[in-house]
Amino acid sequence: MKTKLFGFLICAFCFGIFSIQGASLNNNTQKPFVVVLDAGHGGHDSGNTGNGYKEKDIALQIILEVGKALEKQPGIRVIYTRKTDVFIDLWERGAIANRADADLFVSVHCNAHNSQAYGTETWVLGLHANKRNMEVAKKENEVIFLEENYEEKYAGYDPNSPESFIGLTLMQEEYLDQSIMLAGLIQNNFTNTLKRKDRSVKQAGFIVLHQSYMPSVLVETGFLTNNKEGAYLNSKKGQREMAEAISDAVLRYKKNIELSTSKTRDPVITEEEIEKAISETETKEYKDVNFKVQILASSKRMDTKPSNFQGLKEISRDKEGGLYKYYYGDTSDYNKITLMKTFAQEKGYPSAYIVAFKKGEKVKLSQVLTSNDK
Ligand SMILES: [Zn+2]
Repeated sequence: MKTKLFGFLICAFCFGIFSIQGASLNNNTQKPFVVVLDAGHGGHDSGNTGNGYKEKDIALQIILEVGKALEKQPGIRVIYTRKTDVFIDLWERGAIANRADADLFVSVHCNAHNSQAYGTETWVLGLHANKRNMEVAKKENEVIFLEENYEEKYAGYDPNSPESFIGLTLMQEEYLDQSIMLAGLIQNNFTNTLKRKDRSVKQAGFIVLHQSYMPSVLVETGFLTNNKEGAYLNSKKGQREMAEAISDAVLRYKKNIELSTSKTRDPVITEEEIEKAISETETKEYKDVNFKVQILASSKRMDTKPSNFQGLKEISRDKEGGLYKYYYGDTSDYNKITLMKTFAQEKGYPSAYIVAFKKGEKVKLSQVLTSNDK
């Protein structure tokens, strides 16, 4: 899994063998950064119609604005799953992204609830952490019943069964770090720039995310059923602002990825480069949480000096179950630790991975990243 992920980064950013005509590129040999923009629903599938607003129309307007902003950027190629009011099935949306060998898949939706709930959520694929997550995924997945031959396309899938989602996570797992990074950047912009209510980054089994083989997120831009938020999302101003927040996050993401994989110029990332990348990266702090990169587990007790660890500083050691665990870094900032992990991999620890500690206790990373109290 880990080496595959790394392979993806290398092939996407370093050995650009694809040359797409007509796209504006940084240089001729580099593959453009391909973003697939997916406006949820369309055609005979209106999505939710809270307060009489139409999710399919609002999602499309936001997506078109995001695309307009990204198309102005050099080195980016934008592909839309739909630019008009047409029905595209979930399977085909992912297939469009896969055929384009895209670097990112961003799906935009609007939420609904039978209360005055409001706020923004960005989803990455995973198991449902709770019932409410499953409900949101179910609502977005139900569209498959409007598709022809859905029984064949989504073999064995039943939106009403939680078990149906098990196994759905496998395909996207290797892109989870990057998906969460993008989701975090989007939520940051919504919350800090636009002052929207933060309902955080979450995980559930969205079929549309499952079909794509690249970092993928699904943005719930807010609740049409909420009187105030529905009116905001239906307005030109609201759509423009939400689109700006999303396109800005995509650009930050692209920069982060390029900084953390800047192998094109130099085969080895220097300490200065990684520090620069860290200082330029948005912080994503989690309260009471320490992230570390586990680089090694060994029965041998070693001194934590840099010369024992390919020059890596900030090494700590822990004894767990008869084994010594060696960690690199210690921070509550998830984006920082993501870059540090890449650096450790560069330095010769290809299977390095991130671990999380809450108040000193080791906890599951996915549990930390999808919890609300960050
Ligand atoms: Zn939707």
